Amino acid sequence: MILTQLPRFHFLVFKNPPPSFNFFPKPKLPIIKPASPTLFSSLSTAEPIPIADFALPDEPKLEVSLDKLFVPPETEVSCNDPNLSTKILKGSNIVLSKYAREAQVVQAEFVKSSVRTEDCPSDGLPEFALVGRSNVGKSSLLNSLVRRKRLALTSKKPGKTQCINHFRINDDWYLVDLPGYGYASAPQELRTDWGKFTRDYFINRSTLVSVFLLIDASIPAKKIDLEYASWLGQNQIPMTLIFTKCDKRKKKKNGGKRPEENVSEFQELICGFFQSVPPWIMTSSVTNQGRDEILLQMAQLRNYWRKH
Ligand code: GDP
Repeated sequence: MILTQLPRFHFLVFKNPPPSFNFFPKPKLPIIKPASPTLFSSLSTAEPIPIADFALPDEPKLEVSLDKLFVPPETEVSCNDPNLSTKILKGSNIVLSKYAREAQVVQAEFVKSSVRTEDCPSDGLPEFALVGRSNVGKSSLLNSLVRRKRLALTSKKPGKTQCINHFRINDDWYLVDLPGYGYASAPQELRTDWGKFTRDYFINRSTLVSVFLLIDASIPAKKIDLEYASWLGQNQIPMTLIFTKCDKRKKKKNGGKRPEENVSEFQELICGFFQSVPPWIMTSSVTNQGRDEILLQMAQLRNYWRKH
């Protein structure tokens, strides 16, 4: 299949590609108090309506307004819908569509490591690529998704993870483990040039349904993560942001922020570069927060992709 035939989701369109990143966050918007059910129906769609409070008591909470929702294709959202909040994945901004089905992982097996896109499996099954900075929690998340202790057996040493690792799920689709980037402890010359290695895969892999970009929510936004997200947007590669380590709730003494604050800030920093809001999910491999939500998002993207 050639690239032009790829039925990708074009709801992530890069807006105003920046010559360089401006890391000064936009001024904070006023905090909107949760709307009461009666107020809900009377507001116009132009007004952001906070509708989220999806977390369990011990999970970080984040309000999501109507204009910040990710609405999949062929899905309608109405601010008059009293059940709207039940149609949104917990701890995310993602609206469920009719395609969100068959999300369970029954079987998972490692298939192969490839060093070039051409060497990747050629059976045409849809796939999702997991990628993120070294130490973001990618292996932990991969293992939590498939409920295995050590499925992701890739070496952690810089220079040894330069492979595209395919894991087949339910004999039906692939999870793909891509090389981590930004090894802080490696000498400059050994650091992964993510652009060179993965650019070809992102652009030419016709069965890539979406990239799942992992961002550590326990620390403030990193320049390299913002650059990665903006590059994906610029190249119209579909992306879901996965915020990891959301169980790390303690503020650091040196003015560190809570996961939900880092999550909001990351979104503010990238929102200027996208025409529509990217989907995002808060997760923890310790508590399994977000696991089912990731699998449902993958299911709805995959089932839609198959139909189109
Ligand atoms: P990778 O380099 O991206 O594959 O990251 P790993 O999965 O090896 O995780 C890096 C470190 O972060 C390890 O010490 C993990 O135990 C820890 N870690 C990973 N995920 C989580 C999480 O959800 N919560 C917490 N608190 N720690 C995590």
